[in-house]
Amino acid sequence: MLDKTSALGPIEDDRAPATFTGNRGLDQEEPLLFEIGRVDATGVDIDDAAPVGTRLGGLERKAPIGLAGLTEPETMRHYVRLSRKNYSIDAGLYPLGSCTMKHNPRANEKIARLAGFADLHPLQPQSTAQGALEIMQTLADWLTTLVNMPAVALSPKAGAHGELCGMMAIKTAIAAKGEGATRNVVLIPQSAHGTNPATAALLDFSVRVVPAAPDGTLRAETVREHLGPDVAAIMLTNPNTCGLFEREIIEIAEAVHEAGGYFYCDGANFNAIAGVARPGDFGVDAMHINLHKTFSTPHGGGGPGAGPVVFSERLAPYAPVPFVRRVGEKLELVEHAEGTESFGRLTAFHGQMGMFLRALAYMLGFGAEGLAQGSKDAVLSANYIRASLRDLMTQPFGDRPCMHEVLFDDAWLHGTGVSTLDFAKAMIDEGYHPMTIYFPLVAHGAMLIEPTESESKASLDLFIATLRDLAQSAKAGDAPRFTGAPRLAPRRRVDETRAARKPVLRWEEKAAG
Ligand SMILES: *Cc1c(COP(=O)(O)O)cnc(C)c1O
Repeated sequence: MLDKTSALGPIEDDRAPATFTGNRGLDQEEPLLFEIGRVDATGVDIDDAAPVGTRLGGLERKAPIGLAGLTEPETMRHYVRLSRKNYSIDAGLYPLGSCTMKHNPRANEKIARLAGFADLHPLQPQSTAQGALEIMQTLADWLTTLVNMPAVALSPKAGAHGELCGMMAIKTAIAAKGEGATRNVVLIPQSAHGTNPATAALLDFSVRVVPAAPDGTLRAETVREHLGPDVAAIMLTNPNTCGLFEREIIEIAEAVHEAGGYFYCDGANFNAIAGVARPGDFGVDAMHINLHKTFSTPHGGGGPGAGPVVFSERLAPYAPVPFVRRVGEKLELVEHAEGTESFGRLTAFHGQMGMFLRALAYMLGFGAEGLAQGSKDAVLSANYIRASLRDLMTQPFGDRPCMHEVLFDDAWLHGTGVSTLDFAKAMIDEGYHPMTIYFPLVAHGAMLIEPTESESKASLDLFIATLRDLAQSAKAGDAPRFTGAPRLAPRRRVDETRAARKPVLRWEEKAAG
């Protein structure tokens, strides 16, 4: 571990001195396009065009277009400067727990941009898209093999969308048994990701919360107490959102099946076990796999993502169309559900081709053994961080090994005047994107750290040394380092709640004067 004492002396001036331009070093202040240019000016210096007769039949624009006039360099700089404000996995360690921000190999991007794939049209004849179907089929083979389950729907476009897909199949299966009116409850543990209860509610299920044991995992006995003829399914994440493996998962699956329900597994954390354990062996009936977490591929900021759902034998007939099928020498996309038990179509077309390519490139690049090694390294990295911080920071469920992410709470901050939010903001001053905070809800002031397998030991050591320095400083009473943070970011502490609840998305010209 790095032996590095704080480089930060006492803070005399709360902020670095103001500059004439508002820039800080080469980190430029960036106003809005409309503030750089003017809507009544053009960015280029050319004569007005000679009047021409319009052929738009009265559809021509009558009012000014209202765009700011800028020169080409001004426009380019604007977007380049904005892009530099974007924190990314390519810029530094990104320890967001539950999000799995891992290295995206450049090769994936190159492959996803190959013209033969990138320029495909979803409606072109299948005979001209056999290569793309082959990619989908190969990806489907890898996914179903990794989970040991017979079927997969590739079309869902995110984890949450996958949950919807899996639960729609479950709802359809229950209706097919004539139990649609009576089985309307979904069991969900307290630590679940918010998308789980949201999915259940969207499909008109009611949610019954199952409490976890004091060690943060679910007991089969507790699940049994909550089961009944009204239970349609359990939605369970494994490893769970506390970074812990659900050890009674097989028993839980059996209990749910005995009671006539289905087992939906939230597979967002599959990156901890891919290549090591197979969810089909746990008794899972449906599970989404976040390609954009487990198999690299860039995400965040709204996409793109892909959330294929794998299905057990008993749920497979209800899976959505389309799916790829081999007929003789050819591959075909089965697009029609008529006359089958499939619940139909989930999305307009076939899924996120670019994401299929990235994920498959990642899988083939690593190979089966490499994927298992990646999962093990992710778990090792998280435990290295846990073991390196446990003398300073507290863990809500005791000091024991975790899976791919390590969960701390804020008990250790008690009496320091520093909150989890303050601590996270101080990390920004040190050049680190904060970890996930205040999730899962079962840990008070949660700090969830997921380093992934991408980081070298040197990178982890510097991260650990930084957190140790911060933790010691909080305990030594240097609250201003935290409550005033971030001091060095272009913007100080922003009101994130107000920004989310009352977003200002439209520029309006200020009244003159
Ligand atoms: C990320 C995540 C989801 C949702 O996945 P999206 O792709 O963001 O929709 C669901 N459950 C868990 C546990 C997650 O970590």
